[in-house]
Amino acid sequence: PTMFKHLKAVPGDPLLALIVAHQQDPNPKKIDLGVGVYKDDLGRTPILESVKKAEAIMVENEATKAYLGVYGAAEFAPLIQNLLLGSNSDVIQQGRIQSTQTPGGTGALKVAADFISANLKGARLFVSDPTWGNHTSIFNSAGVEVIEYPYYDPATNDVRFDDMMSFLQAELKEGDVLLLHACCHNPTGVDLKIEHWHALTDLVNERDVLPLVDAAYQGFGDGLEEDMAGLRYMAERVSSMLIANSFSKNFGIYRDRCGGLSVIAETAEEAKSAFSIIGQAIRANYSMPPAHGATVVYTIMNNPELYAMWEQEVTQMRDRINGLRSKLVEKLAASGVSKDFSFIEKQRGMFSYSGLTLEQVRTLRSDYSIYIADTGRMSVAGVSDSNIDYLCESIAKVVG
Ligand code: PMP
Repeated sequence: PTMFKHLKAVPGDPLLALIVAHQQDPNPKKIDLGVGVYKDDLGRTPILESVKKAEAIMVENEATKAYLGVYGAAEFAPLIQNLLLGSNSDVIQQGRIQSTQTPGGTGALKVAADFISANLKGARLFVSDPTWGNHTSIFNSAGVEVIEYPYYDPATNDVRFDDMMSFLQAELKEGDVLLLHACCHNPTGVDLKIEHWHALTDLVNERDVLPLVDAAYQGFGDGLEEDMAGLRYMAERVSSMLIANSFSKNFGIYRDRCGGLSVIAETAEEAKSAFSIIGQAIRANYSMPPAHGATVVYTIMNNPELYAMWEQEVTQMRDRINGLRSKLVEKLAASGVSKDFSFIEKQRGMFSYSGLTLEQVRTLRSDYSIYIADTGRMSVAGVSDSNIDYLCESIAKVVG
């Protein structure tokens, strides 16, 4: 009975606390810019039409609930490879890539972490400062040391690429792992430019390090193809790579937990060996992935009509967010705020590092019921036509 006496409760995720505080706030003008899910102009996170239709087909055709196997559905792998690398990829043609279905992007990262920890002895993971908080938690829990490289520059609201490169040149050792966000960097919204991907590809090859690319927002930046330009450039020029992708955002199937882990190796043979070991890591984690989300994804991708509908829906989500970025910049400027917020329009994806200080964020919360993470990260999709004026006026009052 004394077994758990020594355990101290750990603080919950501050972002989840922010969501609860927003829910409990009686102010009718309250705005939630914390949570990282897409919202439409009415503040809802609706199920995509293409997903609804695919689910109907799935229910009609589903004949069994028997186990799916360690790697998930066989239909899945070629579809995600084409989506990530493009259909004319040499890597795909040479059979140098193997892919498995995973429970979300998180599942993919966890399997990657276990694979790296058990097989690439002494490898350290290099992540951007800042990065998605779970990157550090997942790799630490697998026993991998995590090191931050300079990334975001608050002075310019852009990438500190020179600092990033000189840090990596000084610190990376052969066999280390370099984590990059494919697009729509979480939490900053500030992405690497294509020339940065070129330089990083050279560095990866010179140093013999393993790139691990996290693709959680394909389609939310500039387009399904455009968002993968950097990843594709690198994938076609390095000997090995891991890609963890998530379908949570671009299919809007967050709770269905669907993503993928892909391994690229120097030869088809090596890719198969690595993949078999990844299979072992999966087996020891959750044995096999859930079916629902993946069935939706491949039902859509295999059906030209549904695929066109889905592409359209991704475009709508992207256009809404990018449209809000322009409106925010315009309305903030019109509100007479002293700070230049034009950088918001250049950022991409769900999030924007707003440059608001902790004090300003706290005042917005306590005096205006506007909920923004302590770091100043805003979830842009939480903005709507009905709250944007109040938001911009409030920011102007708080910033001065
Ligand atoms: N990577 C990044 C950068 C993310 O922002 C997220 C989701 N917030 C994920 C991975 C994982 O997504 P999921 O597990 O929900 O598919």
